[in-house]
Formats: sequence, structure tokens, C-alpha cells
Amino acid sequence: MTSDDFFNLNQQPERVAIIGGGYIAVELAGVLAALGSEVSLIVRGERLLSHFDPMISEILTLEMQKQGIDMKFSQSVVALSKNLEGVRLETGQGKIATPFDCVIWAVGRTPNTLSMNLDQAGVETFSGGFVGVDDYENTNVPGIYAIGDVTGKKSLTPVAINAGRKLAARLFNDKTHSKTDYENIPSVVFTHPPIGTVGLNENEAIEQYGQDVRIYKSQFTPMRYALSAHASTAAMKLICVGNEEKIVGIHIIGDGADEMLQGFAVALKMGAHKRDFDNTMAIHPCSAEELVTMKATEHLPGFDQDGV
Ligand SMILES: Cc1cc2nc3c(=O)[nH]c(=O)nc-3n(C[C@H](O)[C@H](O)[C@H](O)COP(=O)(O)OP(=O)(O)OC[C@H]3O[C@@H](n4cnc5c(N)ncnc54)[C@H](O)[C@@H]3O)c2cc1C
Repeated sequence: MTSDDFFNLNQQPERVAIIGGGYIAVELAGVLAALGSEVSLIVRGERLLSHFDPMISEILTLEMQKQGIDMKFSQSVVALSKNLEGVRLETGQGKIATPFDCVIWAVGRTPNTLSMNLDQAGVETFSGGFVGVDDYENTNVPGIYAIGDVTGKKSLTPVAINAGRKLAARLFNDKTHSKTDYENIPSVVFTHPPIGTVGLNENEAIEQYGQDVRIYKSQFTPMRYALSAHASTAAMKLICVGNEEKIVGIHIIGDGADEMLQGFAVALKMGAHKRDFDNTMAIHPCSAEELVTMKATEHLPGFDQDGV
């Protein structure tokens, strides 16, 4: 099955294998586990959500373990076989003993362009059919444009909509400079708990700014779980750059992260600094207040840290 088939299911599968470690794989795993299915996640890489900040992957893995989701890392599926007991998977490391009622592939999608004969029109494609476009969504052929997932830029619904609107305004409404801004696009993963992230992750920030990076981190149990035996962890990270501490990344995992991120993404997009967050009064008691009350917890060698 693919994610399309998942949405067509009319009966809950009891034993499910999901192949993939990206956002669709972890979202589907969370939904099925919450409904009571036995879920195994087979991940080719070493961690979940490999393009996200490592803190997010780490906390999500712990939370998914708590939910009883079985995760196998660094394993590629090489064969499936089916008999009356169900479907069995074979990975490069050998056979997985348990049979499954259904196997869902969540390993990414490819553009449906190969049958369109784009080469006949001279339109250049790359990496298996993505259509190459410039900042204004122009292909290499004048008068032919592409927007959305097929461009291989950022595969999110609001991004595709925005690119369509901006292109229409440019072509048909005399807005000659109208184009989508692909910088600092916030995104949310609807896991349990959800994840919200905008800007650079820690690895990207270090690659780009080296020792100028300062990290603020917080990990805690949200107050609503104070009396609960089934607590869910929350973690947050601010990535700042330079002595002015411009905020270049915000990463949140925890209850409410999905709703929390949109407003903080506005602040980051406007060029907020750590002092702007410090100068904003906290709202108590809630999880989001952690983002405006953070103290430095980590710094890279060579950074002049006063710890305040
Ligand atoms: C399981 C899943 C969950 C997702 N969750 C989110 C989310 O929570 N938030 C978010 O922002 N994004 C999410 N996305 C991504 C989002 O769906 C895409 O980024 C978005 O739909 C891209 O819009 P698009 O118009 O570029 O492509 P699509 O929405 O894929 O539209 C392309 C259309 O073209 C049609 N088509 C294809 N080939 C042809 C052809 N040859 N002739 C005519 N028509 C054709 C297709 O049938 C389709 O209707 C999710 C994606 C998946 C798969």
C-alpha cells in the first residue's frame, strides 16, 4: 500500500509494517498505533526524520517507543513474501519473523511527468522527472511554467498554493516581481506529540555559521501531565547566530507544537533576536512560555558565553 491506499482503508489492520522514516511514515505509524494496531517501522537511515533537528528525532523515537511502536533502523527492505499468515519482510539484515496484515510504503513520491513527453517541448527535468524552474517558476522554455511538488522545491500544500497565486499575479496582474519566498518555511509533523519547526536545524546552522552559533534548549514534562502516569515529553530549541543572537531556527516537539509554531514563525521571519523573545512576557502556565524564558544550555567552543 501507499499513503493513498491508507486513506481508502475501511477496516483497521491489526499488524502493520510501515517502510520509511519520513514525516508521512511517522504520522501514519502514530495514527495506527493510537487506534490499537501493532506497528513496526522499518527505517533505512539511522534516525527518524533525518532532515530535522537531531533533538526532534531523539524525542520522537522515545515517544514512539512509549506508544509501543517497534522501530528498526539502518534496514532496507529487499523482498516481501505472502502466505496465509500474512506478508513477511526481508531486509538486508535478514527476514523479519512477524507476518503483517498490511505493508505501507512511505518512501517518497516521484513526479508523474515521464509520460508527458516534456522533452519534445524541450522542457528540462532532473532527478527522475522533477521540472526545473527558476525563482519565478519559469522552466527553461519561455511560456512554460511549473509550480508545486513537481518542481522539487518544498512539498507542502500552502507552498504550492502560494506559488500558483504569485505566478498568476506576475503573469496576469502586472506584478512583475511577484514570486514565492522559499526561505524559512514553517512545517509541522502531526505525530504524537506533534512537531513544529522553522529555519535552520543545528547541523545546518553550524555548517553555515560555524562557531557563531549559540543553542538554547529545554526539555520538560508539560504541566498537564503532572499527575499522569502516561506523560509525554516536550522539547524546544532556539538556534541563534552571532553576538546579536539573531534567531535562525526554532524547533519544538510537544503537545500544542503545531498551533504554537505559526506565530513564532512570524517572529523568525521578521528577523527576531533572542532579546526580543526575552523581552516578551511569558504566558503562564503553558508550554510555549519555555520559548521566551530560555537560558543558554550549550555553546560551541570559542563562543564568548556569559550564560545569561
Ligand atoms: C500522505 C500525505 C500527507 C501530506 N500531509 C501534508 C500536510 O499535512 N501539510 C502539507 O502542507 N502538505 C502535506 N502533504 C504534501 C501536499 O499534499 C503536497 O505538497 C501538495 O498536494 C502539492 O500540491 P501540488 O498541486 O503540487 O500537487 P498535487 O496535490 O499532488 O496535485 C497534482 C494533481 O495533478 C494530477 N495529475 C498528475 N498527473 C497528471 C496528468 N498526467 N494529467 C493530469 N493531471 C495529472 C494529480 O492527480 C493531482 O490531482 C502531504 C502529502 C502526502 C502524500
